[in-house]
Amino acid sequence: MLTRRGFSAITFGHVIVSAREPTPAIWRHELRHLAQYERIGLAFLPLYLWLHFRRGYARHPLERDAAEAPRLFP
Ligand SMILES: [Zn+2]
Repeated sequence: MLTRRGFSAITFGHVIVSAREPTPAIWRHELRHLAQYERIGLAFLPLYLWLHFRRGYARHPLERDAAEAPRLFP
């Protein structure tokens, strides 16, 4: 299902699911989502989906934060 939707990995709370062995960059990306989850808590998933609906993937603040670019918070 992940690869059909163009993703190689996804993070649910403290669980990272990957369709294949993650590269170091994918690990860093998914671990950043884990840090976001720890910061935001249970609101992470509804917030993620709402932002995805409003802004899409490329302009998604949590995705941009998980990219190798500057962070929203340390
Ligand atoms: Zn991501």
